[in-house]
Amino acid sequence: MKNILKQIFFFSFFFLMISCDNSSKENTDFTTLFEKSNGTETPEYKDVITYYKKLSEAYNQISLFSFGQTDSGEPLHLAVYNSEGIFNVDEIKNSLKNRILINNGIHPGESDGIDASMMLLRDIVQNDSLQEKYKNSIICVIPVYNIGGSLNRNSHSRANQNGPKEYGFRGNARNYDLNRDFIKQDTKNAAAFAAIFHAVNPDVFVDNHVSNGADYQYAITHLFTQHNKLGGNLGMFLQNEMQSQIEESLEKKDIIITPYVNVWGTTPEAGFSQFFDSPRYSTGYTTLFNTLGLMVETHMLKPYKIRVEQTYELLFSVFDVTEEKSKKIKELRLNASDKILAKKTYPIQFKVDKEAYRDLSFKGYEGEIIDSKVTNGKRLFYDRNKPFEKVVKYYDEFVATKEITIPKAYILQQGWHNVIDRLKNNHIEFTRFKKDTIITVEVNHIKDFKTSKTPYEGHYLHSKTTVTSTLAKINFKKGDIYIDTNQNGVRYLIETLEAAATDSFFNWNFFDTVLQKKEGYSAYVFEDVAAQILAEKPAIKKAFENKLTSDEDFAKNPRMQLDFIYKNSPYYEDAHLRLPVFKIF
Ligand SMILES: [Zn+2]
Repeated sequence: MKNILKQIFFFSFFFLMISCDNSSKENTDFTTLFEKSNGTETPEYKDVITYYKKLSEAYNQISLFSFGQTDSGEPLHLAVYNSEGIFNVDEIKNSLKNRILINNGIHPGESDGIDASMMLLRDIVQNDSLQEKYKNSIICVIPVYNIGGSLNRNSHSRANQNGPKEYGFRGNARNYDLNRDFIKQDTKNAAAFAAIFHAVNPDVFVDNHVSNGADYQYAITHLFTQHNKLGGNLGMFLQNEMQSQIEESLEKKDIIITPYVNVWGTTPEAGFSQFFDSPRYSTGYTTLFNTLGLMVETHMLKPYKIRVEQTYELLFSVFDVTEEKSKKIKELRLNASDKILAKKTYPIQFKVDKEAYRDLSFKGYEGEIIDSKVTNGKRLFYDRNKPFEKVVKYYDEFVATKEITIPKAYILQQGWHNVIDRLKNNHIEFTRFKKDTIITVEVNHIKDFKTSKTPYEGHYLHSKTTVTSTLAKINFKKGDIYIDTNQNGVRYLIETLEAAATDSFFNWNFFDTVLQKKEGYSAYVFEDVAAQILAEKPAIKKAFENKLTSDEDFAKNPRMQLDFIYKNSPYYEDAHLRLPVFKIF
């Protein structure tokens, strides 16, 4: 056994070292550029990867893996700390240790986490007491997620930000904002992220950012995934235990932190609500697999050095709380999918509860509206000579506004390969029909929706979608896919396949072809057919006459009248407005 392990070890070691020269911990200097520059600079992408390669060569506890490809052409890397090392990436998700995933550089201009993570893994492996402390944790770090953006270095695209000197750009190699791409997976980055996410199956996920917006005293803020949306005992644990314990841990290190200041164009004193992270965002996505998610938002106007140092300390606080609550977190996650299925219904839309707020003691700066020296208008000015601590209203309770009944299974026709690819990337289990099969299923038709007039992340996003439901016998073909909802990915299935859910595949335009009729008719020809239909089908005739008397617009519009008969006739095509996702209860 020992020999086999040794062989695997050498093979992995060789594999990981393949593009590096031989070096050892004695002659490699692991001081980072951030440290050498006294907290003013962040390294280039290639130097970040070289650093982790050297770290993995020097320390058996660090492994460096690469996953797939990103839009830049470069693979996505994952650096892993484990006290015994990791030889095969599959060991991570099967481990009983705490599994923590840290994502950096999704917005490369917000590089704080990139630098904090480099120092953090180094400090753990170089410090025996830290190694002892985190021997029950596997700490996984994506060094830089948005590689294309990171290669696009500049000094100006973060117009309001106080350092570092140079940094990458927010858009990826194809100008996507990766923190909107977790569900739609337009980018190769998002597919590679999903591969990492499912290889790690993290108990806790941290995504490092820098905020924009209001000015206040805090250098760091936390944006936990919305707890009502996370739901159940896991949501309560996040809100009532994890959040406050991380806050307390930081307080002991003299770091003050507050919830993400979700304030735009006004000042925080007016009160503010928690950010709602739907599944397009990193923590909204990780919630779909019952991971405790947290975005860290440092404050853009604070010096880079302080932001990175506080991000570093926050990450250690997250490790400590995870270590302390390890057993509970494992239990809550293990049961989370079963609890969701047992409830039978699932909320797909939320709104902030304006009645429920809590008093938040907030350390801000007095804001005033003064004359602009640039434009002929007014401007907001925060006076840093006037710090205050005031109680502000913080709205962090959300209530469900729409729920669906969880079906036993979804059926998807096999032609929708772009959807099937995403199900596979997210480890959704399904079977295929072995022969053509007629089943009575619930069919959803799109009743109404709005479409954004401006492009958003490569899409004309739909919203306010509603559907009608009917039962029908559908002839499914050999190879169509049957997706049992009794699986770990049940939330992912609901949030993507239910058209009315915020970030559904329908809303992200995956099914837009059903919105357009492919055939039609000439009125002068159909007139005679319509007359015959009314003569032969009393039910259609009755519905037609009812509409004539009850709907004023309809009664005045002969074109609508003829169309009504067409749409209720066998001539009207089945596919129009019909979702290709069917449900079995
Ligand atoms: Zn960001």
